[in-house]
Amino acid sequence: MKIQDLHSAFLAHPSISTDTRKIKENDIFFALKGDNFNGNTYAQKALDNGASLVIIDEEKYLIDDRTILVKDVLTTLQQLANFHRRQSKAQVISLTGSNGKTTTKELINAVLRKTYRTIATKGNLNNHIGVPLTLLTIQPDTEIAIVEMGANHLKEIEFLCEIAEPDFGYITNFGKAHLEGFGGIEGVKKGKSELYDYLISHKKSIFLNADDPIQKDKLSTYTKKFGFSSEDSKYYTIKLLEAQPFVNLIVENINIETNLIGAYNFPNCCAAIIMAKYFNVELSEIKKALEEYTPDNNRSQILDNNGHYIILDAYNANPSSMKVALENFNSLKKDRKILILGDMFELGESAKEEHQNISDLATSLNFEQVLLVGENFYATNSTAVRLKSFEELKVYLVNKPTQTKSSFLIKGSRGMALERVLDLI
Ligand code: ATP
Ligand code: MG
Repeated sequence: MKIQDLHSAFLAHPSISTDTRKIKENDIFFALKGDNFNGNTYAQKALDNGASLVIIDEEKYLIDDRTILVKDVLTTLQQLANFHRRQSKAQVISLTGSNGKTTTKELINAVLRKTYRTIATKGNLNNHIGVPLTLLTIQPDTEIAIVEMGANHLKEIEFLCEIAEPDFGYITNFGKAHLEGFGGIEGVKKGKSELYDYLISHKKSIFLNADDPIQKDKLSTYTKKFGFSSEDSKYYTIKLLEAQPFVNLIVENINIETNLIGAYNFPNCCAAIIMAKYFNVELSEIKKALEEYTPDNNRSQILDNNGHYIILDAYNANPSSMKVALENFNSLKKDRKILILGDMFELGESAKEEHQNISDLATSLNFEQVLLVGENFYATNSTAVRLKSFEELKVYLVNKPTQTKSSFLIKGSRGMALERVLDLI
């Protein structure tokens, strides 16, 4: 089947599924393969569950004319997404970076949808499957699509750009994340910059954080750029008034009081503001959108747990986001601060050194107690309480309950699932 024909079928029933358990009537089912499953084997089930078409890449699973055999299901999904994106009049904003992509994406969507019909990446669907699925949610009347792009290897962002063909781009920052796959920080800079490379070679526009010397330097000669800065008056000026606990900022004499904690969320807000300004959203609407937004999904959430003040940042962690989170917690004006940190994954050769650095930083700051959890933290040299596993942490917390009302910062990589701590304090 030609991509045009598949696209016509998609327009008739514009809904895709890659999971037979979630199929809706008339979905097109793409039989993707994973490490532990082969979607082809679900072809019959997909039809039974209501799929209108099933895209497969193994001949033996052909059933009837509703099963379409292609060379490679994933490639077909990506080609369909690119075809759909090209047919659309929507402007595409792509964002990548080491930290803060999802938060920034949510903020951009919040401000732009005050004035425009938008679609945006759902949750964290930011990879070679998530980006196509996002593009396929573009509706005939969509004006702006906001597409998060994640990567842990070189050439991934380049590839995602070829699918999404962004008109605008933003890189949140270049940090120490996925060091293993990128082969170190220089690899991270190169990999994330593939978004710039695409935009520059296609003469597209770039939003830029001019407070970040790396971005400012990389784009010094590029003209199609729109930047914000809290210091450099050549760029759109936004000032941070306060970040404890929440980011409070001033733009064009308008005060915006957000529900986002920590100075690290300031550039995330600024990125949303500059894009909204570019697209002529009224400042009063920008203010409303940013003030309405509250984070969820364990991303820098503030909670009350049995009277304890909790910063739950257990969604993910890497050396850069750990550092800013610790600094933020350190400057929080609260008594009895307790830190619970879980291992950071995907650091490859740097794992030992980076865990030691964070361990040193944690004990050098003024916290009542520091609990480090996981095999990597356990292996550090530290005066902190070190626990090899979540199970050990559980035993520790059950035996030594925190009686006095305290403040906690809880942060670790996704695999540590430290949100489970909430049941223990
Ligand atoms: P992922 O790689 O999982 O997609 P992400 O880049 O989408 O992550 P978010 O989910 O928005 O990032 O935020 C995850 C955590 O990163 C936050 O809870 C916070 O600790 C930290 N963070 C957010 N923004 C920044 C920033 N601008 N600089 C450094 N750390 C940040
Ligand atoms: Mg994300």
